[in-house]
Amino acid sequence: MNYHQYYPIDVVNGPGTRCTLFVSGCVHECPGCYNKSTWRLNSGLAFTPEMQERIIADLNDTRVKRQGLSLSGGDPLHPQNVPDILRLVQHVRTECPGKDIWVWSGYKMDELNDVQREVVELINVLVDGKFVQDLKDPALIWRGSSNQVIHHLR
Ligand code: SF4
Repeated sequence: MNYHQYYPIDVVNGPGTRCTLFVSGCVHECPGCYNKSTWRLNSGLAFTPEMQERIIADLNDTRVKRQGLSLSGGDPLHPQNVPDILRLVQHVRTECPGKDIWVWSGYKMDELNDVQREVVELINVLVDGKFVQDLKDPALIWRGSSNQVIHHLR
């Protein structure tokens, strides 16, 4: 998996103070996409084991308390990203007790395959669905268009 941006301290993408990772790779091609540069899977930087360790360490950093981890992109549930995302969320679950995990994906909940569902079973919130320009509403929180659904899973 590749990623475009990592913000160790972020107060914009999800509730509270968070760590946020924007991964590379998206097949949805939504007109008006806010992050078109992330579409290509091989764009950005390699997501290494060191990067994963850094995220774990940042989430556990007591100097700046983080509420959790946000995974966006691109699409964290792109089939080619799922193995690394699954590994990451498994580590966060075991090594960062009390931290929540939010994922933004262009796939709808009912379109997910078994492996994508393994990720969803470990996260707290899935914001699903493509961005639809005609349904764009700046008043919405945590989503760009009104067709997208915030699923609180645990
Ligand atoms: S799912 Fe998100 S990243 Fe992918 S094209 Fe749509 S808005 Fe852009």
